[in-house]
Amino acid sequence: MHSDFLALAFLEAQTAAQREEVPVGAVLMAADGTLLAASGNRIVELRDPTAHAEILVIRAAAAKLGTERLVGSSLYVTLEPCAMCAGAISMARIAKVVFAAKDPKGGAVLHGPKFFEQPTCHHRPQIVHAEGEWESKSAQVLREFFRARRSTLRLDEEASLGSSTDI
Ligand SMILES: [Zn+2]
Repeated sequence: MHSDFLALAFLEAQTAAQREEVPVGAVLMAADGTLLAASGNRIVELRDPTAHAEILVIRAAAAKLGTERLVGSSLYVTLEPCAMCAGAISMARIAKVVFAAKDPKGGAVLHGPKFFEQPTCHHRPQIVHAEGEWESKSAQVLREFFRARRSTLRLDEEASLGSSTDI
């Protein structure tokens, strides 16, 4: 069950990478197991710093169902949610969050603010860290993305240095 939905989220992460977005993908499932929404990050595309995959699926599902509370739903995401997304997950009353890769730098579930453990958090979903295949694949696609971006930046830098010495 977990792995099927994480596989869908992973596909969204991969297509996000093709759009030059940080490859994170999410799907939101209704209590009866139907797919409510699927998305990857669209921060660059929408020029929206809040367009994380989790926020996009929450918005899409709420619009689809015509309700602001996604009671009983489950969110599957390839990366540990950040503080913003953890807040949105709590506001949306999502029942369960399954995430794959851990994010020691920006995560807010196991790391940093540990949002759901705070007394000011009034709705705590069940949290599942899915270890294994999808954890390593999700981390891998992120590593490859940032490695490629670093080398592109280096090439750009070299190119601009080259052009400045030409002048
Ligand atoms: Zn986020």
